[in-house]
Amino acid sequence: MKYLILLLVIGIVALLLGFKRRTPPPMRREDEPKKKALSMVSCAECGLHLPVGEALPGVGGHFCSAEHRNAYETRQGGVQ
Ligand SMILES: [Zn+2]
Repeated sequence: MKYLILLLVIGIVALLLGFKRRTPPPMRREDEPKKKALSMVSCAECGLHLPVGEALPGVGGHFCSAEHRNAYETRQGGVQ
């Protein structure tokens, strides 16, 4: 009877280990590069690369700061 219980325990452990090994890893590898590639933009004034979430959208593109956006837009408006 002892051996039967031991076998049962070993069987359960083996099943659990097998189940853990079989579960596929989360799809991080596919998501991360896409997000990084999409989220990077360069400042139209100085060319600095920064995440799109931190960039300021402007008339001529994205900008790293309000100063650069103002400088770019005044220059664009002043040239004509
Ligand atoms: Zn800039």
